[in-house]
Amino acid sequence: MPLDYHSLLTAFTLSGCGLATAFLVSWLVSQKERFLMAWTIGVSLMAFGVLIYDGYVKTMSPLLGAAGYTVLLIGLAFVFGAGREFRTQVLPWRSMVAMAVASSAAVATPMLAGYNGIAILLLNLAATVILLVTAWDYWLGRAEARLAITLLTALYVLTGLSFVPCAILLLLDGRWILPAIPSNWAEDLNIAICLTTLAGIGALSLALNQARLARGHKHDAETDPLTGLLNRRALLDRIASEVEGPAALIIFDIDHFKRINDIHGHLAGDDVLRAFGEILISCRAQGLAARLGGEEFALLMPRGSLVSAAIVADSVRVRLGKRHFAASAGSFGSTVSAGVAHAADSVIDFDALLQDADKALYAAKRNGRDRVAVSSDEEEFLAQMHVQSDGQRGPVDLVRLRIG
Ligand code: GH3
Ligand code: MG
Ligand code: MG
Repeated sequence: MPLDYHSLLTAFTLSGCGLATAFLVSWLVSQKERFLMAWTIGVSLMAFGVLIYDGYVKTMSPLLGAAGYTVLLIGLAFVFGAGREFRTQVLPWRSMVAMAVASSAAVATPMLAGYNGIAILLLNLAATVILLVTAWDYWLGRAEARLAITLLTALYVLTGLSFVPCAILLLLDGRWILPAIPSNWAEDLNIAICLTTLAGIGALSLALNQARLARGHKHDAETDPLTGLLNRRALLDRIASEVEGPAALIIFDIDHFKRINDIHGHLAGDDVLRAFGEILISCRAQGLAARLGGEEFALLMPRGSLVSAAIVADSVRVRLGKRHFAASAGSFGSTVSAGVAHAADSVIDFDALLQDADKALYAAKRNGRDRVAVSSDEEEFLAQMHVQSDGQRGPVDLVRLRIG
């Protein structure tokens, strides 16, 4: 048995209420995701607007028609706002108010004046515009999740375009005053599409939010909060899953860091760690940079040679040496020592590599700190350095390296 128009409107209202509840519960679980609240309000208003409109269908009371359309259009403006807030984290209040006021004034005025034909035509056009603008907004943020957002955009476009045939048939009809609401294939298709896409749009929006939350949690679990670098566990995971040998590893350890804390305070110590983190972040193109713990850091360079790693390590050492930090006891500087090791095999034994780099680091500390040491037979290393010096790097770079 085919459903009549009233049943389809009721189904839309009920489906909207269910979806609004799902968004409300999601918002209660994660109140930081404020776009969920905008969605809840938007879908609730749309469901309520359709309920009032259903009353208009039965009574043809201009007041009910104007109220139903106004509530529906405010709901659509909230749905647009929720989409923008999802992408930019900012609710576009001004655009939403402008959208809701302009569209509901354009629709409610002729409705209240008795020209319901014009009102229904303008409602169809306003809904098309708001839904297409919402679709465009999602499209702009598609880089976050290409498939899901492309699908979401398509659903918004489909919904928006489903109002166009309704408007065209009204235009062809040409009457400004209608004794009953239009009943034709375009209206049936429009409500059927809205009913279907509402559920799809709701489910996709929630899934996108879940995926974003999961990415956020993964990022937090992998990131050192002070420096923004990978933490030790994330480094080990990445090495296991992404890195093939040969590779070079640099271990950095800030010199006399305990003394910095003791003299200048823990906050000044944190400043040094943060500054060192910034220097390592700028080396990310070279490989995986991580804070191993405390004042120890690592830079793993896939396909890096011992020589290239020693040069990078030394440039990091020099950059930290040039920094000055402010503290109540006066400005102070900081130095770092580094140990460099190399793994030639295609499968990296990270524990062995770490041990070699640690030994080199210990040598750098023993030899006076503020220097780079390599875990290698010195002659072999110097021979490699010589090859390197024939390349792009001049001898000045090599002299600046202090081999532990
Ligand atoms: P060395 O030159 O031999 O490396 O000496 P050190 O003083 O740097 O080494 P040590 O291991 O004795 O001291 C490390 C200090 O780092 C001890 C610890 O309190 C401090 N530390 C560890 N994590 C943090 C942190 O997140 N912030 C601050 N400010 N200090 C930290
Ligand atoms: Mg240490
Ligand atoms: Mg130290």
